[in-house]
Amino acid sequence: MKDTGKALAAIAAAFVACAAAHAAAEIRNGAEYALDGLAAEMTARVTRGGTVRFLLEEGERRRWEAAYSPNECAVALEHRAGSAGAPCRAAVTISKHASVQTPVLVEFRLADGETPARTLRVVTYTAPGEAPDFRYPRNRMFEALLAECRARGITIVDWHLHIRGGMTPEMAVAREKASSILSSAMENHGREWEIFTNERLVEFAAAARRANPKMPVGIQVNDRDWFKQIDARTRARFDYILADTMIMGKLPNGRDKRLWLVKDMADIGDPERWMDEYVAHNLRILDEPISILANPTYLPAPLSPMYDRLWTEARMKAVISKAVARGIAIEIQAESPFPSPKFLRMAKSMGAKFSFGTNNFDPAPKDLTRWLDAITWLDLHGDDIWSPACLKK
Ligand SMILES: [Zn+2]
Repeated sequence: MKDTGKALAAIAAAFVACAAAHAAAEIRNGAEYALDGLAAEMTARVTRGGTVRFLLEEGERRRWEAAYSPNECAVALEHRAGSAGAPCRAAVTISKHASVQTPVLVEFRLADGETPARTLRVVTYTAPGEAPDFRYPRNRMFEALLAECRARGITIVDWHLHIRGGMTPEMAVAREKASSILSSAMENHGREWEIFTNERLVEFAAAARRANPKMPVGIQVNDRDWFKQIDARTRARFDYILADTMIMGKLPNGRDKRLWLVKDMADIGDPERWMDEYVAHNLRILDEPISILANPTYLPAPLSPMYDRLWTEARMKAVISKAVARGIAIEIQAESPFPSPKFLRMAKSMGAKFSFGTNNFDPAPKDLTRWLDAITWLDLHGDDIWSPACLKK
């Protein structure tokens, strides 16, 4: 037994020691990962419609099993018995569906009934290089948007510009130079996201500042205790905090329920009861020290056909009045049908300030028609636009 253990250890040492450093390691295509030193969380960059393949060590009776959303990706596990003292391995293939742009989470579980279960999370990101140009096409809509902004004294900042999927702070700076739309740099923070620790946040802010010290840098917060997780010194490095309401509650497996995933929303139950809970969730988020409420009034796909019925005036008013009282901007998001023109008009009449955002998945520029429409529908002028102190430095 001892010898087998030694042999295994020797083979393990010969493996690609990807995870010697226990920080989230990046999976390399074709690499082999030993159980010793395997990080609990790994990341992979996968093109949409692309795959990543790698080998995971198993024991004789310890097999990996995978849990994932079949709407987002496919995971194939092929168990291979080891020959002559070599450990058993699982050949893993993760294929990301072409339509999926957001990160995909795959959880592997290893249990042999004797030692405690072991869990490995693999988060796949969209790989860079999928978008031909990250600058805005200078089409008629774009020129009309710039003309309206000039006439109305509006300076547009894209406050919801994710540095992900191949988008870099340098591209954000170059995009700003090529248009009259100012860029920011922000990314998601949370337990189930790539950036969670204070150290990673500090690195993120530093990289953005290197690209342009004047570019505003923000965080999109996805955990509802983020203000306890992010320490004051780290918080001070960021200019603003953006939050949406699109993660609410937990799944039976303990993961966050993401309202935009169809399979997470299978058990909505009574829409009115769900809506009461959702409005309370909105109001709790507006109690957090955030700057921008992103994609306001978002509804999950099963409920969006009932938007006008569910978003009653009283519910809209509750959300808007809290945002106004707390000085939180209402986002107008490119390519999103939320919020409705009725909500936006009510917000304007109640004195709300508006912010613009793209919520990009990668460097591909989004269609900004929604911004132009909102500016003209609401007859917005410079005074209506959220303008924090960081813009004046
Ligand atoms: Zn976002």
